[in-house]
Amino acid sequence: MEIASVIVDVPTKQTDRAFDYIIPDQWRGTIQPGMRVIVPFGPRHIQGFVVGLNSESNVNKLREIIEPMDLKPVLNEELLELGNWLTEKTLCFKIFAYQVMLPAALKAKYEKKVRLAKRGTAQELPSNLQVFFENDRELDWEQAIKMRIVPPLQREAAKGLLEVVYEVKERVRKKHQRFVRPTTGINELLEAIQTIPSNAEKQKLVLQYFVKHYDEVELKTLTDELNTGRSTIKSLVDKNLLMEFDKEVYRDPYENRTFERTKPLPLTDSQAKAIAPILYSIDQNQHEVFLLYGVTGSGKTEIYLQSIQEVIEKGQEAIVLVPEIALTPQMVHRFKGRFGDNVAVLHSGLSAGEKYDEWRKIQRKEVKVVVGARSAIFAPFENLGIIIIDEEHETSYKQEEMPRYHARDVAIERAKTYNCPVVLGSATPSLESFARAQKKVYQLLTLPSRMNNQDLPSVDVIDMREELREGNRSMFSRKLFELLQDRLAKKQQSVLFLNKRGHSSFVMCRDCGYVVNCPNCDISLTYHRVREQMKCHYCGYESYVPTTCPECNSEYIRYFGTGTQKVEEELGKLLPEARVIRMDVDTTGRKGAHERLLNDFKDGKADILLGTQMIAKGLDFPNITLVGVLSADTMLHLPDFRSSEKTFQLLTQVSGRAGRHQLPGEVVIQTYTPEHYSIELAASQDYDLFYQREMLIRKLRHYPPFYYLALITVSHENLINVVAATEKMVNYVRSQVSDKAVVLGPAASSIPRINNRYRYQCLIKYKREPNLTKTLKTILDQYQKDTKNGLQVSIDVNPVILM
Ligand code: ADP
Ligand code: ZN
Ligand code: ZN
Repeated sequence: MEIASVIVDVPTKQTDRAFDYIIPDQWRGTIQPGMRVIVPFGPRHIQGFVVGLNSESNVNKLREIIEPMDLKPVLNEELLELGNWLTEKTLCFKIFAYQVMLPAALKAKYEKKVRLAKRGTAQELPSNLQVFFENDRELDWEQAIKMRIVPPLQREAAKGLLEVVYEVKERVRKKHQRFVRPTTGINELLEAIQTIPSNAEKQKLVLQYFVKHYDEVELKTLTDELNTGRSTIKSLVDKNLLMEFDKEVYRDPYENRTFERTKPLPLTDSQAKAIAPILYSIDQNQHEVFLLYGVTGSGKTEIYLQSIQEVIEKGQEAIVLVPEIALTPQMVHRFKGRFGDNVAVLHSGLSAGEKYDEWRKIQRKEVKVVVGARSAIFAPFENLGIIIIDEEHETSYKQEEMPRYHARDVAIERAKTYNCPVVLGSATPSLESFARAQKKVYQLLTLPSRMNNQDLPSVDVIDMREELREGNRSMFSRKLFELLQDRLAKKQQSVLFLNKRGHSSFVMCRDCGYVVNCPNCDISLTYHRVREQMKCHYCGYESYVPTTCPECNSEYIRYFGTGTQKVEEELGKLLPEARVIRMDVDTTGRKGAHERLLNDFKDGKADILLGTQMIAKGLDFPNITLVGVLSADTMLHLPDFRSSEKTFQLLTQVSGRAGRHQLPGEVVIQTYTPEHYSIELAASQDYDLFYQREMLIRKLRHYPPFYYLALITVSHENLINVVAATEKMVNYVRSQVSDKAVVLGPAASSIPRINNRYRYQCLIKYKREPNLTKTLKTILDQYQKDTKNGLQVSIDVNPVILM
């Protein structure tokens, strides 16, 4: 007997293990590890992943696999193994570890249906129900609800006549197109043309077409070109001269686009010095982690490109990760320009179908390079030669839901398996990575200067308190306003950057200071102008803006905070002649909008580009000579030990947008805390000094990279229960770890209530605690198994966000 071990799509603690199923004879030899299968589970049919095959099982009464969902495994051996590692490292359910590796299109969708328990028994049902089940028809559950016939169906189900089944559906289908081709040789076609009656001119036309282009052609292209209908083709098919067939085609998001091919540039001395150890590691199949540290414009991307070239020439494959926000068309162009069709691209702007098709190009080995956001780290390559992570300090490389993995860790784990290098690139490396490079765990490679030898732009820090004291109440300092006017006159371009995080536009009463909060969560509602609504970003609660203040009845209740829309309005008043392009979540929601707006700006259709985080990266236009940061400190005050680091990184990044080409650039940073070191040092672009200052603080406060962190978050509807449970966990952890570890809590989370559930935390800071994983698992086991108590417990090992 052949038995398959299957991880089932039921994410609970009790089901977080492999279940054994018999492989029915007809599927023997077909079903392999790494395939998705449909299995019975309780009364349902669900999806599962085969993780192993055995000849026996110690469980009696095994059930049978219903059918495979794949013809070949979607997870190879390495990825199956990686799933185990991911489960262990992030303490997640196995099913999540496997699902995260695949495009969403391969995740199962379930459809609930009602059908006869025994075939051909429809006439035993009450007459009004028979019609739905005649000829063994099935009835959609949704349909049954709409028709309000669920109760009678339930009665029949109780009698055993009907049953409810869950069917597993694929989310996305492969895309097919209809093609036509001749079934005979050219001579036969020529002969046929003679015999076709003169009133069938169109048929002749089609045959003449195939005489000229003796090849298959898409049906629609053919009928369009010859201006004929389908019936003409049909008649020729009936005459056995042509045949129609379906052919699978990829949905190519970059279809109809040509990328001008580029050649490797002769490297500068410092580039040559930096790339040498990478090439050596590629050639020797040696695993090594490199930190490529160089300011924006110092030529890092060219190093990536030439390293990949080497890898391709060796017949190997490359993964390039770029933060979602930086996956701009420009970035894609550079890789497609160098490697053409050898590149697959994966990012959130693609439809599920497009992502699936890009993924299949990788799986079928039709490409050698993938450029993508975080989840592209799981690209199913089988002969990896290099993994590159650009802007390695970006927080978006950490996934905030199960599995809570960091792409950098996964990259290093995969690269170890393939004995290949990992290259982490950044102008402002994360403290963790730079510290590792200092300790020689990573090898540091440095690019000291910009390619064009342009000086970095000059940076002015403006104290906004001073502006206010001198009577300037505008959101623009006098300096920034003056420079904006100057650029307008010179017909040069400016970028205005608004740090949106922590700056959500909330609604506040100007008289009494009342802020409209979400009734379910302890957080203010965010104002959305499009529909004049307020929304909670945590639970989805929506409401209209009140016309009077619920506290003091004042009519002066309105939205507050400098959203991009507000800046745009202000610009319209102060600089009416300026053409402004605004880029934020509202203006870039539609597909392709991001690229279109950027292109407009590049083509000089606007003088000022105004936007949030999303414009901080990748912009590389020659005419930008001014960058203004409207409020640099909004992020500094977030309850997050990384807030200084993030502020420094963001300001450095934004400043790097100015003066990348011939024209020199200027940067104005407006702030209420000009004396803060992360703002001062970003202004002088001094990463090394920032690193030293920040490391001192991290050491003092027991934070990474000196300590590792683990965060337990507990939530419950009842405040007393959540505090008591967290307290228990804190005590348990304390009893299990050494006295070198710091265990903090129970403490309220920085968002103390979400969706009516109170949230408490236990934070563990540690250096080496061999026992900790086991301790955390025990906690999860206990609390996740017992769901009746209503507690939710989640654990984030190496959290990036502490909220
Ligand atoms: P980074 O990735 O560090 O921001 P890039 O690789 O984009 O830097 O390089 C900045 C600019 O310099 C780009 O326009 C790039 O084409 C150009 N460049 C890079 N390397 C060379 C080289 N060796 N010779 C000439 N130009 C180069
Ligand atoms: Zn009020
Ligand atoms: Zn809410």
